[in-house]
Amino acid sequence: MPRSSFEEMLAERLIFFPKNVSIHGDVRQMDGTPVDPEMAMYLMHLMRPVAQATERIVVPDPSTMTNPQRHVSPKTILTFSGMPNAETRIDVEGTLTIHLGMLAAFASLPATFELLHSVIDTPDLQWSHLQTFKPPENVLAEVDRLMAAWDASAKSGWQHVRVSSFPTDSQFGLYRKMSDGMAHLVTGHELTHWFETVYRPSEWERRIAETKSDVQRWLGEETLLMRPQVMSRLRGLLQDPEVLDNWTHEVHADCGAFDFLHASSTHGGWSQSAKKLQRSFILIALLFSLLTLLEIFNQMTGGEVSVKTHPPASARRALFVHIQARRCGMSEQEFLLKQFGAGVAVGALMDAIIGTYVNLVESRMRR
Ligand SMILES: [Zn+2]
Repeated sequence: MPRSSFEEMLAERLIFFPKNVSIHGDVRQMDGTPVDPEMAMYLMHLMRPVAQATERIVVPDPSTMTNPQRHVSPKTILTFSGMPNAETRIDVEGTLTIHLGMLAAFASLPATFELLHSVIDTPDLQWSHLQTFKPPENVLAEVDRLMAAWDASAKSGWQHVRVSSFPTDSQFGLYRKMSDGMAHLVTGHELTHWFETVYRPSEWERRIAETKSDVQRWLGEETLLMRPQVMSRLRGLLQDPEVLDNWTHEVHADCGAFDFLHASSTHGGWSQSAKKLQRSFILIALLFSLLTLLEIFNQMTGGEVSVKTHPPASARRALFVHIQARRCGMSEQEFLLKQFGAGVAVGALMDAIIGTYVNLVESRMRR
């Protein structure tokens, strides 16, 4: 395959990605002309955490694999598609495909990251602060630009990726940590699907069966995070064994994503730190909120939303909480208070941001 202009540009600067990673397609501006080198470098920085995360993954227990190995490096494809998602193909080889659109979406929210951190770091933060929280203009504008970027990209058949906001110098450090963490979560989710190709079938089935019973127990027990009408609708939907199966795999991958993120930030769990655990919870809560934003985008633009293949973001969050609480030997309520507090705060702040944004768009349409 001839090298794309993007790869040429990287090679000229002696930047090479690990051999398990390949870049498909090429990046262009909306008008078809090549992007300038500065933009290309920025995009390269967005891709790099995925390359680093997949290059050499330590297998916690090689004896569970069909071909026991200490390390794996799954075949990973990075594309320039603006589509804000990722996918895994489960064939013999197994491939992770990650679209730049997903990475660009996180990178387009530096003011939002900054705001979330400043609220969460408020000493003696109270629930009443969160309830009266009013999202500032610059954050709403940033969300609006991201939605406009998705819209423009969707109209090009998702061919062109757009980065709608850039961090300022003072935002850069935090932005970098957050977007690297998000890249780990997305990669970790796909990686967990991919493990199906390397685990012994009996081991894989055991894990899936365990998660399936978690999902079923959640269906019977959830009262805290979901509305009763929604739960009764979901109970009906999950009577279909295929839907239950799809949801189980997604929930399993969400928990795997969290473990992967946390293990990477704590050197495989050797250094336990409350601060790092909190940051991992903040990131996963933020991921669920961004998925909510994508659901809103799809609703507004008539895009496809299928709850048969993936649980809605609100259910993904509730399922995650349910399973993690059980792992910690806590009730859901206790877990929300003692462990996931920062995640709850992020969820509440993001709900306020998204809710205010939706109202704004609706009033704009009425005018
Ligand atoms: Zn998935």
